Amino acid sequence: MRKKICIIYTGGTIGMVPGENGYVPSKSRLEDSLTGIGDLFKPGMPALEVIQFDPLLDSSNVSVPEWNKIGKTIADNYEKYDGFVVLHGTDTMSYSASALSFMLENLEKPVVFTGAQIPLCEIRSDGYSNIVSSVVIASEGNVKEVCIYFDGKLIRGCRSTKISSDRFAAFASPNFGLLADVGITVEYHDRGGLPKKNGDFKYTAFEEVPVGIIKMFPGIQIRLFESIMTKQLKGVVLETFGAGNIPSGSAGEIIPIIEKAYENGTLIVVCSQCIQGTVTLGTYETSKSLMDIGAVTGNDMTTEAALTKLIYLFSCHYPIDRIRKLMTENLRGEIG
Ligand code: ASP
Repeated sequence: MRKKICIIYTGGTIGMVPGENGYVPSKSRLEDSLTGIGDLFKPGMPALEVIQFDPLLDSSNVSVPEWNKIGKTIADNYEKYDGFVVLHGTDTMSYSASALSFMLENLEKPVVFTGAQIPLCEIRSDGYSNIVSSVVIASEGNVKEVCIYFDGKLIRGCRSTKISSDRFAAFASPNFGLLADVGITVEYHDRGGLPKKNGDFKYTAFEEVPVGIIKMFPGIQIRLFESIMTKQLKGVVLETFGAGNIPSGSAGEIIPIIEKAYENGTLIVVCSQCIQGTVTLGTYETSKSLMDIGAVTGNDMTTEAALTKLIYLFSCHYPIDRIRKLMTENLRGEIG
């Protein structure tokens, strides 16, 4: 039987047109462009239906409510389609793909995020090939998880990060192999790393959990951040140097402030500023102190995955000890 794919158009460069103050999303432009992509309608291609968000957004304006909207749209239409393609701006696509990885549990169908660096209305747009390949991948059904397809690469959503603002190869998966290389053929790689499914498909709406990201830098005056470290703050991703190191010398006022955050009940997750590699707390004296005061290791998670995992776990209302434990465990292939 002919497969059926749902295209969820949220906005982003792919469907943008020049406006008075720069590119803005356009409803009609995308519709026109899609009907103009001959490959989408060739024999062997699935039937397509488009669900268009209103308003369409630059992904800089996408956050928890929009993640929920994407998740709910997929949940409401889960049985109706064989797979989903989410057209989304590239700027925060890795956050959204990570969020949706946690939000959608026990997925048995592909959810493929894609977009473009050049709008479809301009010459040399990468949007055509990104859409066509994403639809093919969604209909083939080999990858039953949230992923990003971009410029020949299929990437696990919760392992993705945006690495370029001006190259077609905008995304990378620095700590995990590609799910597929797309050239003349689509070559899937069975990378594993996904925990066993433990029930039926489930959608969990996120709440607007107060969380943050603090990036270490030489000379950081952590006192300036103290005012945000209140009891209200549920979790912080610390982007540390190398394998999890923070300044501990004369500028080392960081530990007491983090200790206070811990006492306030704020969960501190340690990630690395390095694009590739893993956090190993305790390798250096400058990271041991973090371990001693109850920070948890983000291991090889991206900042995007760590942040959205925190929001997900707090939205599940688990007790803090369980959240602390789950942060270091593999839920969707995001870690380890
Ligand atoms: N600012 C755009 C967005 O994220 C960039 C893009 O789509 O490439 O919506």
